[in-house]
Parts: sequence; structure tokens; C-alpha cells
Amino acid sequence: MAFDFDMIKAVYGNLPDRVAAARRMVGRPLTLTEKILYSHLTHAANKPYERGKSYVEFNPDRVAMQDATAQMALLQFMQAGRPKVAVPSTVHCDHLIQAEVGAKKDLTVALEKNKEVYDFLSSVSNKYGIGFWKPGAGIIHQVVLEQYAFPGGLLIGTDSHTVNAGGLGMIAIGVGGADACDVMAGLPWELKFPKLIGVKLTGKLSGWASAKDVILKVAGILTVKGGTDKILEYFGPGAESLSCTGKGTICNMGAEIGATTSIFCYDNKMSEYLIGTKRSDVASAADAVAEHLRGDKEVYENPEKYFDEVIEINLSELEPHVNGPFTPDLAWPISKFKQAVLDSNWPRYFEAGLIGSCTNSSYEDLTRSASIARFAAKNNLKAKAEFIVTPGSEQVRFTAQRDGLLNDFENMGAMVLANACGPCIGQWARHRKSSEEPKNSIITSYNRNFAKRNDGDPNTHAFVASPELVTAMTLAGDLCFNPMTDTLKNENGQEVKLEEPQGLEMPLKGYAVEDAGYQEPAKDGSMVQVAVSPTSDRLQLLDPFPAWEGVDLKGLLLLIKVKGKCTTDHISMAGPWLKYRGHLDNISNNMLIGALNAFNGKADSVKNQVTKQYDSVPNVQRSYKASRIGSIVVGDENYGEGSSREHAAMEPRFLGVRAILVKSFARIHETNLKKQGMLALTFANKEDYDRIQEDDTIDILGLTEFAPGSQLKVVFHHIDGSRDIVTVNHSYNANQIEWFKAGGALNIIRAQVEG
Ligand code: SF4
Repeated sequence: MAFDFDMIKAVYGNLPDRVAAARRMVGRPLTLTEKILYSHLTHAANKPYERGKSYVEFNPDRVAMQDATAQMALLQFMQAGRPKVAVPSTVHCDHLIQAEVGAKKDLTVALEKNKEVYDFLSSVSNKYGIGFWKPGAGIIHQVVLEQYAFPGGLLIGTDSHTVNAGGLGMIAIGVGGADACDVMAGLPWELKFPKLIGVKLTGKLSGWASAKDVILKVAGILTVKGGTDKILEYFGPGAESLSCTGKGTICNMGAEIGATTSIFCYDNKMSEYLIGTKRSDVASAADAVAEHLRGDKEVYENPEKYFDEVIEINLSELEPHVNGPFTPDLAWPISKFKQAVLDSNWPRYFEAGLIGSCTNSSYEDLTRSASIARFAAKNNLKAKAEFIVTPGSEQVRFTAQRDGLLNDFENMGAMVLANACGPCIGQWARHRKSSEEPKNSIITSYNRNFAKRNDGDPNTHAFVASPELVTAMTLAGDLCFNPMTDTLKNENGQEVKLEEPQGLEMPLKGYAVEDAGYQEPAKDGSMVQVAVSPTSDRLQLLDPFPAWEGVDLKGLLLLIKVKGKCTTDHISMAGPWLKYRGHLDNISNNMLIGALNAFNGKADSVKNQVTKQYDSVPNVQRSYKASRIGSIVVGDENYGEGSSREHAAMEPRFLGVRAILVKSFARIHETNLKKQGMLALTFANKEDYDRIQEDDTIDILGLTEFAPGSQLKVVFHHIDGSRDIVTVNHSYNANQIEWFKAGGALNIIRAQVEG
């Protein structure tokens, strides 16, 4: 089930007809993105979808989950009552391994520390037909590229860098756990039909310039918000000259500009990569439908006519870039970087250079970087900063070791970490002395460099560059070093100029691995027990939420009237709370603790209407729950924006909040609330927000006639005996109303499975 060639054949079998139908319906040539999206619709479209506006339902082909986000996704999936996942799915244990002293020891520590999480993920995967990649097997996106991605497919993954698979011609999109759960349970998946940016690449990379520099430049052009609700489609002769893994790097970092995803057309480089990673059958099947795995010729001849925006980059003129600090869109061509460092007074002498991660740990990346390390050893150059290497998968690590690349790095003094996220996600026990200057720099080949991302320290200035440039700069330990123009003094006092990096796209002897770290699920998982200790504080099996009582909701109390911005982070904070993401009861102790109470301007301080005392939001709600009193949350504009984490919808549901009434919702959060069986309502008249008083009790009327497009009434009974009756809107369709009635979407699926 984890790798399903029949599924790929079925996708390709339908592709020509679906593309032809979409072209007829749209009435013009199609981009690749449109071909893939229109061929994955749940229902054939009869008119073109409006880009950036229409919400559309799709059937994804695959689901991939990383270990941190998989926990709640799979706990929810268990509620669906299905014997197996509906689409091929995998779990990857990569986020929970802390980097400290090197691969072997760090992995041993992680296996002990996270045992209950790994045991749960392994057993739940085994039971439900999910491929399980053990701790140390590799980073989700590298493994997906090597094993599962295929041109023309649609993948969703519970991680924002799922987009990496666009390097192999797939529409691959990062989602929340609730979406993954739905798709595994057989429900469609909804996406706002994206706008399209065409990126035309001409010329050819040479010398120090690499695929990484393409996306570093694009990030500088579009900035961190420029890709929001957009898909970047790369094309042109330059695109065809890039290796498949290089394309993956470019798509991976598209997440940094907020893009829904990025994609390249199917070409020879992809075919070669599929063959090189032992998937000749997929390559042959893709070759047979190759014309449908690219945008139409007319589109690329006149891109301005078909894309919402077009960018052109000549790879022959592209300079290596260094981006940062603190944001990935602060893009500096290497020739301008030295001056920027000096002018801005950034810490010039950096302490660590880190290469690898899911973004840049391909064989090509490692060979190009190793060529510099080898040259350094030959010329008696020593690294002037700590050097850290993170292979992306066991396959890449094993092959790199066999071919002497890890040896080259170790000769340069490198510490090789486990095949896992490590410092890229802040899982880095960095060894800084308290006597050292707090302000410091590091340079990485990762993708994100926001403050505290890598080591939790707001003083760390993190810069991002290609692995070969990071390797070269680590020999200097100096951000002002430009290997294209400058020399380094070696141990003999001689000035040495580095040679340009040389690499191989794929290993000449082929990829090899002894134990890839994969666990195939049981064919029949019915007898497999899912391992969750009842005393665990990190994991807790879920109970189904109760169904609606069938009557209007009366006598609810106001829990909080939120003032101003309330993102999903305000509703369910991250940081230290993340360790409870598999334990709904424990993580609910962070519910709304970041939101501002409109009545006192304070966070996490609301009036308990029973005791009349102020207390934290979770405490007050828990006391209402204990007394079986429902409550409502009132919010401002764009309530629930930000990350799509489902905990922000599950926590209020779990603690007994019955409705969220706001001026407006962020769409994903609104849908998440509906899925959990909550009432998500908006004021028909936004000024009514001001009528709500701190001691109100509330009735929600009209639920027995709850229907698509209907309005409901909400009565606010004030403490002085007066009342306000306000009209509220909702956006529930008929299915979603059934979710509300049943107490949540998963209750419906379970009833269907059992029925
Ligand atoms: S290596 Fe970094 S970017 Fe990649 S999946 Fe891990 S944390 Fe995310």
C-alpha cells in the first residue's frame, strides 16, 4: 500500500481524457498546474474555476506525514473506523531527533526519549496499512522524492515543505493533520484554486551557481508573502538543464515565499532520476503520457497570456546568493554580501556552517560540497568554524559513505548528524559558552532562517546559501569571504584560491543502502494493537465527540470576547506545547491563552461567570465543562488565520465550547471547526460585536431549521436584564450541517463504515 504502482497507472490511464476535457471546458491551452489540478477533481467541472477565488474539491493520490504532525492526524483517523487508509500513506520519523554529538548517539537518545511516540506511530501505521519510516531512515521530503513522488500526481503532506516533490513534477502541498485525516478516511480535500506564476528559466548554471541560488533569487523577488495562494510553474530550457534534485531544492524553498506549491514539467532529468532511484516502471509509464505532464506548447511560447505573473531568470548570469539574516527573502548576490555584512554590523565571523537537510542533501549537493572539502584537505586548509552535515536519507548517507564523501567531510572536521531534521527545526543542543558574545552568526543550506529557528536563540543571525558555498565559507569562518574572488591562507601560510565545485547528479555506481529503515505495514492489520499507554502524557486516544442534542442551545456563557488578531497560534500556542500535540487533554491547557480579552485587554485572564473570579481561559472553561455548561467564544476579524493546525479547533470542542462567533474567519480554521462539529458563525452586522457584554448568557436559536444559506439568531442576555438579539450567518453546506448534527465529520464516516 505504501508504494502503489497500480495507483500511478490509474492516474496516467485517466490523464489524457481528463486533460482533453479540461482543455475543451476552459477553451484554451493549459498550464501543467491546470492539467494536474483539473485531472484530480472529485467532480468534473463545467466551467473554469476562478484562480485565487474558487474553493475546489480534489482527490489526492498520496499522503505523507512527519512524526510530530502525524500523531493527531492518526489519532483522528482511528476515529473513522476504517480498517485501512483510503490512499497510499506514509509516516516519517524525522522531527524528534535532537542533534548534539553525532548520528549514532543522538539516535540512541531519541529512541529512548520518544519511545512511546515511535511505538504509537509504528503500531498505528502497521494496523492501518501505512508505510512507516523509522527514526534515522531520513527526512520526509527526501524520502518522498526518492521513493514515492511521480510526475502528474497530487500529494498532500502534513509539513510545509511537502512542496519539495514538485521537483519530480508533482503538485505537492503542505496541509494540517485534519486534512490528511480526511483524505486517509476517503473524503475529498478542498483547496482555493491558485493563481499561477510562471517562472521562465533560460541559460545554464555554471561555476559556483547552483539550483539553490535560483530560489534564493526568486525569494528576493517575490518576498515571503509573494507566493500566497499561488503556484509557481517553472519552465524553459534552463529548467530542463537542472537536475531533478536541484528542481526539488527550488520547489522545497518555495514554501519560504508562501507559495501553495511549485512545480517543474516532466523532462529527461526526471526520467533519469526515476531510473536512478530504481523506478524505471514509473519512468516508462510517465514517458507514455509525457505530453500531458508538461504545459501546452502555446503556454510556454506566450506565458504572459496564461500566467497571472511571469518572472524570467537567466541561469547563465545567476550569481551565488546568501540570504538573511532573520528572513529568507533578504537576498544578497555574493558580490554585494560583504558590504552588507559590514554596513549592517552583523557578526562577521560565524561559528557554524551546516549543510544538508531535506532542502539540500542530494547526491549532487554532497558531491559538490565534498569536492571543496577534498580540495581543502589537499591544500592544507582547515575549517575555521564548526562544520555539520545532515544527510537527507539513509540511502543518500549510505551511498555517500560508500563513495568516500562522508570521509571527505570528516577530514574537514565535520560532525555527521542522523538522517533527520535536527538543527533545521531547532532540535540542536548547540555548545556555546556563556562567555561568548550573545550576538552570533551561522550559515546553513537549510530553508528557513527566522529568529530562533535553528537554536532557539534570538541573537543568532542565520544566513542561507547553497551547500557548496556554505562549505567554502566554513573554511574561512568569515561571512565576508567570497570564494569566487578571494583567497584563503593555509596552514603553511600560503594563499590558496578554491577551485569551483564539481559534482555528480547521481552516483556512478548507483544508489545503495543496506537497511533503508522502512517498515511495511501488515497485510491484515485487524489484530494489530495500537500502542498507547493510558498513563502517557504525550499521547491519548480520542473519544468521539457527542452528537448535537437536536434542540437550540440555551444558557451558554461567554468564555471570552477576543479583541484584535487571533491566529491559530493565539488559540493553540506552539513552543513547549508541541510535545503534547498527541494528547488533546494536555494540550488543551493552552487554549486561547494568547488571545486578548476585550474587557480587560489582558491575555489569558477571563471572568469565570460562576465564581465571578478572573482566571486563565482553560481553567474557566474546564470549570464550565465540569458543571456541564456550554460556552461561546466571540472573535474579531480573520479569526484563526495562520497555521492550519487542527488543535485550534479540537481544543474548544473538547473543552465544551459550543460556538465561535466572529466578525470573519480565516477559511481553513472555519472548515476545521466545522469538521469537529462546532458552530462557526459570523455576525450579519459586524457592529453587533460591540453589544456583547462580559457577563452575558447566550442562546443560539434556529438550529432545528439549520440549512445552507439560512441565518440563525443569537440572544445575548445582559446582566441588567436587557437583551440583544442579533442575526448571524454561516457558510455550512448540506454535508457540513450533517457533520454538525453528528458531532463531527469523523462520526459520519464511522457510521458509514459501520453501516
Ligand atoms: S529538514 Fe527542516 S525543512 Fe525539512 S522537513 Fe525537517 S524541519 Fe522541515
